[in-house]
Amino acid sequence: MKAVLILSGGIDSSTLLYYLLDEGYDVHALTFYYGQKHSKEIEHSKLIAEEAKSRGNVEHRVADISSIHDLISSGALTGKESVPKAFYSEEVQKRTIVPNRNMIMLSIAAGYAVKIGAKEVYYAAHKSDYSIYPDCRKEFVKAFDAAVYLANLWTPVEIKAPFVEMTKDEIVKLGLRLEVPYELTWSCYEGNERPCLSCGTCLERTEAFLINNARDPMLSDEEWERAIEIYRKMKEEHESQNK
Ligand SMILES: [Zn+2]
Repeated sequence: MKAVLILSGGIDSSTLLYYLLDEGYDVHALTFYYGQKHSKEIEHSKLIAEEAKSRGNVEHRVADISSIHDLISSGALTGKESVPKAFYSEEVQKRTIVPNRNMIMLSIAAGYAVKIGAKEVYYAAHKSDYSIYPDCRKEFVKAFDAAVYLANLWTPVEIKAPFVEMTKDEIVKLGLRLEVPYELTWSCYEGNERPCLSCGTCLERTEAFLINNARDPMLSDEEWERAIEIYRKMKEEHESQNK
């Protein structure tokens, strides 16, 4: 069975890659370069896809859609604004949105699936305490699945988001069981050599490992200690602001 997977090189989609391989799928992973200032994501998606070949059949392609960057991107991810240093709140999060990103990527992925004869397209939408991205909700998955079905009646393709009701720490729990090499994944929204440890995704990542009584294997001992310190401080601030 062939499945197309949108792979970002982060924790969620990397876990989904290993989950699908564990389920016996041949995975055709697709990574999008949409003009994000951190091409780190792309590098790490290549690393993880390469490593995953030890678990099953993996094809990996990078789709460059950066030429539409000016049409859709104005937020922090593509370099015109700085990345917010805080837990996600609605206000902060709006600045990290690339409008309609999942729909654009899923549309292309669905077309790719039809071309290669895959019946399913997977993406790692999930529930987050800090995140309100509307195109990660199950209502969106259901509606888009119906639209893709109608758009490809003779060659039906399903849109699947098996993590849609899971939180990030539950995804990490599954990934630890599947022995996902998290040291190869990348989450930080900053384009630096090492993770900043204080942007929204870094904080969520630290939290997900802490809840699982694990440590983030991509960080050095010193970085991990610093990550915990920053997490605790910002969690306190976040909670006192939301009282
Ligand atoms: Zn960061």
